[in-house]
Amino acid sequence: MKKYFWKIFGCAMNYADSERVANILAELGLGRTENLNEADLFLIFSCSVRQKAEDRIFGEIEKLADWKKAKPGREIGLTGCSVRRTSNQDSAKKDPFLRRAPNLDFVWQIEESGHLTELLATRNQEPATRNFFQIEPQRQNQRQVLVPISTGCDNFCSYCVVPYARGREISREPIEILAECEEAVKNGALEITLLGQNVNSYQKKHGAFAKLLDQVAKIKKLKRLRFISSHPKDFDESVIDVMARNPNIERHLHLPAQHGDDEILKKMNRKYSAKHYLELIEKFRAKLPEASATTDFIVGFPGETDEQFENLLNFYRKANFDFAFFAKYSPRPETPAATFENQIPAAVKKERFDRLNALVVETTAKKYKNLKNKTLEVLVEQATRHSRASGNPKKEKVVCEGRSSEFCPTKFEGPEKLIGEMVKVKITKPREVELWGEIAK
Ligand code: SF4
Repeated sequence: MKKYFWKIFGCAMNYADSERVANILAELGLGRTENLNEADLFLIFSCSVRQKAEDRIFGEIEKLADWKKAKPGREIGLTGCSVRRTSNQDSAKKDPFLRRAPNLDFVWQIEESGHLTELLATRNQEPATRNFFQIEPQRQNQRQVLVPISTGCDNFCSYCVVPYARGREISREPIEILAECEEAVKNGALEITLLGQNVNSYQKKHGAFAKLLDQVAKIKKLKRLRFISSHPKDFDESVIDVMARNPNIERHLHLPAQHGDDEILKKMNRKYSAKHYLELIEKFRAKLPEASATTDFIVGFPGETDEQFENLLNFYRKANFDFAFFAKYSPRPETPAATFENQIPAAVKKERFDRLNALVVETTAKKYKNLKNKTLEVLVEQATRHSRASGNPKKEKVVCEGRSSEFCPTKFEGPEKLIGEMVKVKITKPREVELWGEIAK
């Protein structure tokens, strides 16, 4: 049996896509291996959110030259947000990545995964004509399941490649999503994450996402329901109401703000103001006071003045976020922002990044301190062995980690068999941006 090895970069969408690709590969008689030397095929799920991420993938492909030479017939394929056109080295019109990386044999747009049959060495097979989302996923994790509800994006934020890479937004039918969620729960899923680039514009109908969320939450035995990503221009109270009615929906909202200054938000083409965003957070907190709110930011967007950066920090304080993920702005080819004047020097971006980081750590540490002696329900995702200072392997301790419904990263000592289980953990030692605790009695 021929084997494939893969590397997945980037966000949850790539992980969800990989589960469907695994099924197509299985039908082609390819089995997965975690040992590169056994593999005939190397697949990469790319992320192009930052130039660095794309350069890393390019470097990865260059390093595979010796691996390819060692066994005739070995191939390298690439999908994800770096790909613009399904093609191979023989195509008349090649994807730019193929021109850049001669070692790479083929690239494919994820929705065209049926064409893998033509692109691979097993080329005499008929291409699959199925809709990508109707392909049954081969789950990598039966307990925490990712379910895409839409693909692509229509928003064209001025810094983002997704609409060019993944195309326009297409929503899956609710009936198909519900069937996939029900099946996952039947097979032992405790947590489902509904995925879309902008879940709030699902079906382009006001209230459609709230209705879907409500229906999925009603699936019996589903312990936890999450959703990403939300867009502040489309997020509304209907989702907050559904969250409040269904306690198995996470007590957490991740609402990417990207900035807190109106002028920058306009240049980003985000189509909301800082005031509108803060009002949404206020409404959310009024109905779900125990829930957490997290966000994303881009620091050092072209033209960002000192004053505009101060506005971002003040916005952070006003929203009183529980945590934020943030990155320095990275110009992406094809996007309007890459051509904007006044690109911010790297040293200034770094200085602003460090200041935001200090604010986030300080705010989260204060919030986490208040969780001392509280009990949170944690879904254990992994366990790591640590040898104690004595060096005696018998005294090795195992640390379990996972997240609570409020999205708090939590660690505690406990047996490995707890992976995939919900465990009640009493918080004993809040650290800056993580919580430590013990299994509640
Ligand atoms: S909403 Fe904006 S940032 Fe998000 S995927 Fe679409 S274009 Fe990119």
